[in-house]
Amino acid sequence: MRASLICLLAVVSCSSEAADAPLASDSGAVEDTGVEVAPSKCDPARTADDRPDDVEGYQVRLWYVLPSDGKDEDHDRNGRIERAALAFNDWLGKASGGPRLRFDTCEGKLDIGFKRMTKTDAAIKATGAYVLNEIAKELPRDNKLHAAYYGGGSTYSCGGGMWPPELPGHAAAMYLHGTPEGSPYPCDAHPLGREDLPLGYMEIGLLHEIFHTLGGAAACAPHHHERGHVNEDKRDLLYRGSEFWEVGPTTILDLGKDDYWGHGTACLDVSKSAFLEPLPKDAQLPPRW
Ligand SMILES: [Zn+2]
Repeated sequence: MRASLICLLAVVSCSSEAADAPLASDSGAVEDTGVEVAPSKCDPARTADDRPDDVEGYQVRLWYVLPSDGKDEDHDRNGRIERAALAFNDWLGKASGGPRLRFDTCEGKLDIGFKRMTKTDAAIKATGAYVLNEIAKELPRDNKLHAAYYGGGSTYSCGGGMWPPELPGHAAAMYLHGTPEGSPYPCDAHPLGREDLPLGYMEIGLLHEIFHTLGGAAACAPHHHERGHVNEDKRDLLYRGSEFWEVGPTTILDLGKDDYWGHGTACLDVSKSAFLEPLPKDAQLPPRW
């Protein structure tokens, strides 16, 4: 699938963390040795374990996942996943007029998990349309939605999401090195977390997959098309159709607000998701969660 990339978002600001202020000595004596700084509870070492949560409630945890033989590009530590996630959530907040995803953070910083899978890139690719299932099998099945940038390939697509109630689950992913058959470009023609293009295909792409995992667009949506998509406008976050998907700052959150966001009907509405902050009134979990 090709995406045309258009214009740039303004610089995404990095969240600043409050540094622990050293305690002042009240003795008046000069004391600059032997001061022990308490270790952060948010261990910066790579881990699949959940670091302590800043907030309660349903939340989205970001991941960097690699096949057993996948090249480690360090995206969980080089700032690219963080930049990408902040960019697409910032876009969502602007497009929605406020609500955005509740991310899993520890002391204000994204809690990005790291997982090296047990299977090789080739073995995972050989599952065809089921790469996401392979990733999901190796991630926790808890109350979090696990959103991964996967440093492996796929011959099927550049990403995948669940689609409850038909396909329930807790994972969503972008396949950084996918080479979908029939596509003129490999997925990594659109690199992740670019400083000069913070909101591109890999960023809007993961938000698209997360929306699928939250249940959007439901089959009852007026413009529903091909399992979870809408075909109204090529700029729509959940577009799939005959034109190339156009992603970037001009991406639209549900054109006409009648399919999957803020429509006020009985059809599934992602704007009521329990994974949003502020928590919507009558917040709902994805079907079959
Ligand atoms: Zn899709």
